[in-house]
Amino acid sequence: MNSAGRRVFSALARPTLRNATTPSFTRSPAALRRLLSALAILEQRDGKLNTGSLSAVSAAQKLGGSVHGFIAGSNIKPVAEEAAKVEGVEKIVAVDNGAYDKGLPENFAPLLVENIKKGGYTHVVAGNTAFGKNVMPRLAALLDSQQISDITAIEDDKTFVRPIYAGNAIATVESSDAIKVITVRGTAFPAAAVGSGSAAVEDGVDPKADSATEWVSEDLAKSDRPDLSTASRVVSGGRGLKSKEDFDRIIYPLADSLGAAVGASRAAVDSGYADNSLQVGQTGKVVAPQLYMAVGISGAIQHLAGMKDSKVISAINKDADAPIFQVADVGLVGDLFEKVPELTEKLKKA
Ligand code: FAD
Repeated sequence: MNSAGRRVFSALARPTLRNATTPSFTRSPAALRRLLSALAILEQRDGKLNTGSLSAVSAAQKLGGSVHGFIAGSNIKPVAEEAAKVEGVEKIVAVDNGAYDKGLPENFAPLLVENIKKGGYTHVVAGNTAFGKNVMPRLAALLDSQQISDITAIEDDKTFVRPIYAGNAIATVESSDAIKVITVRGTAFPAAAVGSGSAAVEDGVDPKADSATEWVSEDLAKSDRPDLSTASRVVSGGRGLKSKEDFDRIIYPLADSLGAAVGASRAAVDSGYADNSLQVGQTGKVVAPQLYMAVGISGAIQHLAGMKDSKVISAINKDADAPIFQVADVGLVGDLFEKVPELTEKLKKA
């Protein structure tokens, strides 16, 4: 790894301290387009484009150069054609091979290396999703680049902003690597629109390398509820719920009355009240819905790291000094076992 490839301008300050010598976009848009080209990695599952990965496209567009999309898997043509409609993408590079269906990093990273070499890209951008977190570090190692993870803003083509210490500080980092390998925080870059784009679809290079790794099976939690990562409303429950029965009895009806996804604090997950796929926070999902309701959650820094960018935060807690009230726009101090069923009834009637 190239340890000199990244320079941190500022880390322990909020808001970010800007270095006066930080270069900004001084080149003309035309010059940038000649110099820069980004490959945005698009994810697919079972032949469907994962719209969560479209944040990578909107981030790539902010770099100012041309943007190509990359997609791989079995029977890839229909999903590649769908991806070609993504606005702002000039070309889709598609590889049709079932070996890439599950995004195994041991197979996917060498595949990307070949296609990056062929396309001469200066930037490779993926969502900070389970796939992105799995594949991009391996890709960066193969390219001898330092990966820049979970960025929330782009200052110019080599300077990026990312939260560190559970969002408690903001680092501005500059990369001097020839190929910059980046993952983007989905809540910081709106998904690129799928609609009027008309990118060309081109076959990518498939190294068909022998791999010691093969996909065996998966066990997925199924739910008809809105997806926690992308829902516009989220109701989350914490340890204050006291038991799984009470979590189910109190949180789900409130979420249903709002058409909301359900989330949970880590303490609620660790206590067995909720599945760990529902955990919000530093080691769970990062969400930024229009409305986030925290019920019986104290507001530990690790929880805030996953929800503090929500548009409106409301909290119900019996402790008026709970830290959650410091970030809440609307707070209700009271016993959740009394207040939440009351609120749910009113919302149902409304
Ligand atoms: P508590 O802190 O126990 O709070 C329960 C709250 O419920 C209290 O404020 C209490 O006043 C209130 N309450 C109790 N009874 C009632 C009632 N009847 N009515 C109303 N209110 C009531 N946490 C996360 O959430 N997500 C993460 O991703 C995460 N990652 C972590 C990573 C690391 C490395 C570490 C060290 C910790 C992490 N944590 C994470 C844990 C975090 O530090 C907290 O322990 C956790 O968030 C606390 O969850 P809680 O608020 O539900 O529980």
